[in-house]
Amino acid sequence: MTRLNETHDPTLKSWVLTANDGQTDFPIQNLPFASFRKSNSKEDYRIGVAIGDQILDLRKVITTNVLDFSDTEINRTLSNEKLNEFMALGQDNWSSARQTLSKALRVGSAFENRLQDCLFPQSEAEYSTPCVIPDYTDFYASIHHATNIGSLFRPDNPLLPNYKWIPIGYHGRSSSIGVSGQTFPRPKGQTKAPEAAEPTFGPCKRLDFELEMGIIIGSGTELGHSLKIDEAENHVFGMCLFNDWSARDIQAWEYQPLGPFLAKNFASTMSPWIVTMEALAPFRTEFSHPAQDPQPLPYLHSSANCESGGLDIHLDVLIQTEDMKSKGISAQSLATSNMKYSYWTVAQMVTHHASGGCNLQSGDLMATGTMSGPDAAQACAMIELTKGGKEPIVLKNGEKRTFLEDGDTIVITGYCEREGTARIGFGSSVGTILPARD
Ligand code: MN
Repeated sequence: MTRLNETHDPTLKSWVLTANDGQTDFPIQNLPFASFRKSNSKEDYRIGVAIGDQILDLRKVITTNVLDFSDTEINRTLSNEKLNEFMALGQDNWSSARQTLSKALRVGSAFENRLQDCLFPQSEAEYSTPCVIPDYTDFYASIHHATNIGSLFRPDNPLLPNYKWIPIGYHGRSSSIGVSGQTFPRPKGQTKAPEAAEPTFGPCKRLDFELEMGIIIGSGTELGHSLKIDEAENHVFGMCLFNDWSARDIQAWEYQPLGPFLAKNFASTMSPWIVTMEALAPFRTEFSHPAQDPQPLPYLHSSANCESGGLDIHLDVLIQTEDMKSKGISAQSLATSNMKYSYWTVAQMVTHHASGGCNLQSGDLMATGTMSGPDAAQACAMIELTKGGKEPIVLKNGEKRTFLEDGDTIVITGYCEREGTARIGFGSSVGTILPARD
């Protein structure tokens, strides 16, 4: 696990003044990476680092020789459009680049004047996915979500016996993963009402969101090679927010015996910024399974994982309907939760993923699964919040929702806050549902 170093010092201030207000997601202690360009332009995307309300354009920084990362491979890969090659360089190089950026952006830096020309306002930017995503796996790491949803799908048998032993997951599609701002048509599919004799085909009637976190693999592994749990996080570049849109009526009919398929692969929305594991180092938490539960098998257990395998990340999901938008009513919170409720840690999920010998590649995305907490107000999907559609939510403009309607926008935000540290955030994942296509 990454140790604290001078880049985490909460007293550090940037010459980019908006980084210093204590409220921004992007103080100098964060320094997350994205792929961006000017909105509505045909410019090439390039890698940027968030600082306050600005983006430091790394291609410009490097090609104009304003800043040297003192390694030709770092300089070359940070000039790319996407992060895969930089992430493949490994942890020491990520850390070295972070040190360089932290020093250059600090108050008193000799680079201030020349770096001013390499800033771009976030308000004028649009984003691409930060990396090419070769493969995507979705886990199921909240036992609260697994129990809530299991009791709706299988009332007599909510939590299957493998749950407390294996980080359960399924292999999703990366082709339909978009970045914040994504819009997508309501999916169509085959569904069967419980009382109906036969299924029908048509637009999904029970469209849902899932508040999750994404784990981005930095350096890959070789085919046949597994990871020891204490080296797993060395392969993780960072994390993002993730909305795994889900079609519950399609899911209920198709999911047995091989798991989710078309109910999950029509769209997923990630936040543009990858917050590095190094930036998250001050927000680690202890981790354990309850004493009465099975304890992890040896390959999923280590003392480091128990001492600091967890992550304290506050999560919030909000809705803004078409009617709310037309009346200028701001988005309304549906639930708040925290990554610390996860039944499996990042290291356990990555270790388990590699344990069979399947190789990981730079840019692979693993999502945690819906990160619901123990309380009803921490249920991170409509199916849980409305008890399977039986208890509608009344919104502040008077509208009701069981599942999502066309025009609804779902916003996910996340941040870390702890005494004695600088608050850091993830930005947001925003996605909007369009009507089904003919
Ligand atoms: Mn999911």
